[in-house]
Amino acid sequence: MYLIVFGAPGSGKGTQARRLSEIWKIPHISTGDIIRSALNTDSYLAVHAEHTMRTGELIPDDVITEIIKNLFGQEIYAKGFILDGFPRTVKQAQALEKIFAALPEKKLIILSFEANEEAMIKRLSNRMSCYSCNKTFTLAQIKEENNCPVCHAKASLYQRSDDDIDIIRNRLRIFNETTKPVIDYFGTHRHVIRIDALQKIEDITDDIVRSCEDELKYS
Ligand code: AMP
Repeated sequence: MYLIVFGAPGSGKGTQARRLSEIWKIPHISTGDIIRSALNTDSYLAVHAEHTMRTGELIPDDVITEIIKNLFGQEIYAKGFILDGFPRTVKQAQALEKIFAALPEKKLIILSFEANEEAMIKRLSNRMSCYSCNKTFTLAQIKEENNCPVCHAKASLYQRSDDDIDIIRNRLRIFNETTKPVIDYFGTHRHVIRIDALQKIEDITDDIVRSCEDELKYS
């Protein structure tokens, strides 16, 4: 099964993608993580990554699409994956449809995480991530200063540089103008499952598991 988690920054798609990857034991691909891991390297992606983290702008379609194309050729992704952060433009979505057409597994589920903008701004400006386990938390969940509440790594928490308020606003503007049309594009020829992203984390996961099981049963 291939799953696309789609939503604005702060909609919780990354958190759910990690949970679903653990539940279903299928790999999670986050294009944001791939881009961040290029920071401070001497790869060709580093220049794009640095610009993206400073401004919130998207990296060029051809650069990210090439990365995705190469990943999908790998054996570990042949039976399925959870795709988080791609596609972010209609051009990327069209390229993805071409890539899917050549893959062996044909079941594709698209989840759209829906939440209002104010809630997303609040979440992003309160978000901390762990260098060690890659999980994210709100400031209220952190009990010991800078120690991870899940993996207990010491001094491992950081705030993403693109979670600065001005950059958040730019990322949401780009989402509304450039990324939102992707769901309309998919809606013309695929079923899109809409998820209320303002529920409790556990309830969202239950909702997704139930919806995906129904989708697989009746497709
Ligand atoms: P994310 O972790 O998904 O919020 O991604 C972090 C940043 O990486 C985004 O704000 C974009 O600037 C960039 N990025 C991630 N995925 C893509 C993509 N598919 N196309 C272009 N830029 C991307």
